[in-house]
Amino acid sequence: MDDRTYAADAESGTDATVAGWVNEIRDLGGIAFLILRDASGKIQVKFEKDEMDENLVETGLGVHRESVVRVTGRVESEERAPTGVEVVPDSVEVVAEADPELPLDPSGKVDADLSTRLDNRTLDLRKGEVKAVFEVRAAVLRAVREQFRELGCTEINTPKIVATGTEGGTELFPVTYFGREAFMNQSPQLFKQLMVGSGLERVFEVGPIFRAEEHNTPRHLNEATSIDFESAFYDHTDAMDACETVVRAAYEGVAEHCQEELETLGYEDFSVPEADFPRLSYEEAIERVNATGELDEQLGWGDDLSTEAEHALGEAVGRHYFVTDWPSEVKPFYIKDHDDDPELSTGFDLMHPSLELVSGGQREHRYEHLIEGFEQQGLEPEAFEYYTKMFRYGMPPHAGWGLGAERLVMTMLDLGNIREAVIFPRDRQRLSP
Ligand code: ATP
Ligand code: MG
Repeated sequence: MDDRTYAADAESGTDATVAGWVNEIRDLGGIAFLILRDASGKIQVKFEKDEMDENLVETGLGVHRESVVRVTGRVESEERAPTGVEVVPDSVEVVAEADPELPLDPSGKVDADLSTRLDNRTLDLRKGEVKAVFEVRAAVLRAVREQFRELGCTEINTPKIVATGTEGGTELFPVTYFGREAFMNQSPQLFKQLMVGSGLERVFEVGPIFRAEEHNTPRHLNEATSIDFESAFYDHTDAMDACETVVRAAYEGVAEHCQEELETLGYEDFSVPEADFPRLSYEEAIERVNATGELDEQLGWGDDLSTEAEHALGEAVGRHYFVTDWPSEVKPFYIKDHDDDPELSTGFDLMHPSLELVSGGQREHRYEHLIEGFEQQGLEPEAFEYYTKMFRYGMPPHAGWGLGAERLVMTMLDLGNIREAVIFPRDRQRLSP
């Protein structure tokens, strides 16, 4: 099977076997072309009807689009061919025939709506510009992992079936666990925190998070991929430094490894966001939003930033920025308050001009304060004993954050809908494929 040559590697003057999908058949009369597509690109196969074996011509030109074929022949240079070479076939084998009726057109000539595309992702990802998104996504994850390693992190994996939620009681997916109620985890938050107190100290995880979001929106999934970081002896400013480094590394990785994909996606000047993302306090942020005059109602202290507010602020700032020093009441119990002002938390968000990418902060590592925080948030500390207990056995100060992988890809490539950044998205309607 693996004696084949990728289309992009076929060199003129050699005999080669290429294998892939029939992208298109172009019949010009006496001469006809089969355009074969594989993961590396496309290559032209030439049929000269009068000069070639009749069966060979019939097989090669009679095959339905998107069938899988294997072509063996001589590779010759041909200026007019898209890749500068073409295959003159000795044999054509139809390996897997495709139905003549396709649910969507992988050549992209006929548009398909998102729902049809998601139902037929296999065919959808035969399109160069769709495949490119997932090559970019893979490059993002690779770059992020490499950067975490540079930062001295150990990669961990934590449970996705859990006994309790962490981000409040709502938004949880219940599951039955041997007759007991359990939930799909909303975040690795508590587990990664437990690891900064272990011998590992600095950890990261790339894994799924599950949220039963109330509404379908273009930026929420019910199963998302979270890129999580947590480090002992870090405060919130160290965590923001690490966050900026990792986000920029993702862009750098894409710039380095995905030039072709970026071209396919129409990017002429893909650029890495400049360093030193501005850090606006929450107070400054709401003042700036209110000053834009874009909102129907002025924001007051303690209000969350609505989607409209995020847009107005994003437009005013015009680049990635952090919002810091949130009111304690809007941040979860595990976020530490400022020592000199308990009304203010060390929580921060990293914003892309269009939406939130990251939430993070320094964590409350003092046992008594932590228990108080649980109670203030209406959670029973007893249910989290596995977590709180470890804070009695030497838990260092620590900080970290969670970054939505799909939101990162979505904003990087300017995709209109987060579902474009997931192969098989889960939303309120979509449970298969
Ligand atoms: P939002 O307010 O935008 O719904 P959030 O504040 O509820 O997000 P966090 O709990 O702070 O989300 O999660 C950290 C990060 O994980 C978010 O900044 C986002 O990038 C990502 N994320 C969270 N929920 C989702 C989701 N439902 N779909 C996709 N990404 C998500
Ligand atoms: Mg958040």
